[in-house]
Amino acid sequence: MADINPRTQQHTEIRKAVRDVCSAYDSSYWQKIEEASGYPDEFIQALTKTGWLSALIPEEYGGGGASLVEASVILEEINRSGANSGACHAQMYIMGALLRHGSPEQKSKYLPQIASGKLRLQSFAVTEPTTGTDTTKTRTIAEKRGDRYFVNGQKVWISRVQHTDLMMLLARTTPREQVTKKTDGLSIFLVDLRENGGKGLTIRPIRNMVNHETNELFFDDFEVPAENLIGQEGKGFKYILDGMNAERILIAAECVGDGYWFIDKARGYSTDRVVFDRPIGQNQGIQFPIAQAYAQIRAADLMRYEAAELFDSGKPCGAEANMAKLLAADASWQAANVCLQTFGGFGFASEYDIERKFRETRLYQVAPISTNLILSFIAEHVLGMPRSF
Ligand SMILES: Cc1cc2nc3c(=O)[nH]c(=O)nc-3n(C[C@H](O)[C@H](O)[C@H](O)COP(=O)(O)OP(=O)(O)OC[C@H]3O[C@@H](n4cnc5c(N)ncnc54)[C@H](O)[C@@H]3O)c2cc1C
Repeated sequence: MADINPRTQQHTEIRKAVRDVCSAYDSSYWQKIEEASGYPDEFIQALTKTGWLSALIPEEYGGGGASLVEASVILEEINRSGANSGACHAQMYIMGALLRHGSPEQKSKYLPQIASGKLRLQSFAVTEPTTGTDTTKTRTIAEKRGDRYFVNGQKVWISRVQHTDLMMLLARTTPREQVTKKTDGLSIFLVDLRENGGKGLTIRPIRNMVNHETNELFFDDFEVPAENLIGQEGKGFKYILDGMNAERILIAAECVGDGYWFIDKARGYSTDRVVFDRPIGQNQGIQFPIAQAYAQIRAADLMRYEAAELFDSGKPCGAEANMAKLLAADASWQAANVCLQTFGGFGFASEYDIERKFRETRLYQVAPISTNLILSFIAEHVLGMPRSF
């Protein structure tokens, strides 16, 4: 199919290079990983060795020094190839907090090792079972005693813990009752999971709908050196919010990648599959939903670029980042449904990958932020409607 999207004519070198890496990991690779409930280690190694996962690390620390637009193109291409960025994207999401708020010592200690692939920074521990999206009610506490913090509490849905060396952790350092603003008193730590030999941390994997390594974490006097606190104690919530626009934009790009993948598959199959003596794609009942889904993805893609370009030029982009994520997650889900319908029964057969990508793209409606929370941001922070919480 001729690619008529002028945006994909930009960053062609990045696109081609990422496509080349991904092309070595075809449908059968992903099927084997899924069957074994495994982690795509070789794929992640290949992306690490070629420097794509450290794209956002500044060049002075050995990274690629990429813009957010470029980083978003990398994740888009990964998902567009049929792979799932969920195995590795956190390295890009988390990077902002370390770059912006980490001390020079922390940056020079960790960034070169992350850039070279010696260390992985793939986990971000925010969500808790009892607090859900209401992050200021975080109950995990980190209490300072001497030169160490002792962490106690529980997290849930913490991804890639078994395949990372470093984890960013959000915990309360001052009880909520003792702060005037509920967003104060939360802190973030860069936890080196290799340090304690697992002492004080129990990891319980959660079986889930997608082949995604995610876990419950139980902290019992888990020790973190005080020097691993990021930025100022008590300001962690603000640091997390700072990183959210980048995260939303990168997620939107992944959804866009999924969306184009579904359209390619649906278009190809509908052209080849003959029923009632003609390609099913000759029927407008098949054509129109595919065309509609394509138009929605193109629209979401534009909003992704608008948001990413604003971000890169240092301008406010909260509204655009949230809308990009909302539109792209909806568009990829619409494309997934259309693609499954186009394939008919064969869409349910694992060998076509449609059902796997269908499950994977559905997750974007919920994680890392659910659609309702984005809508409430748009209603209340962009349109100025009354606050609901
Ligand atoms: C596979 C997977 C991987 C994940 N990986 C990570 C990870 O690595 N690190 C991490 O910290 N978290 C992770 N998460 C957690 C994810 O970020 C949360 O599931 C998500 O933010 C939603 O939070 P919740 O599940 O607690 O839902 P809840 O907050 O309990 O909300 C449940 C539903 O109610 C809706 N809702 C809640 N409040 C309101 C309101 N006021 N108005 C309207 N609707 C509302 C929500 O939109 C949602 O649909 C992961 C989740 C999954 C499923």
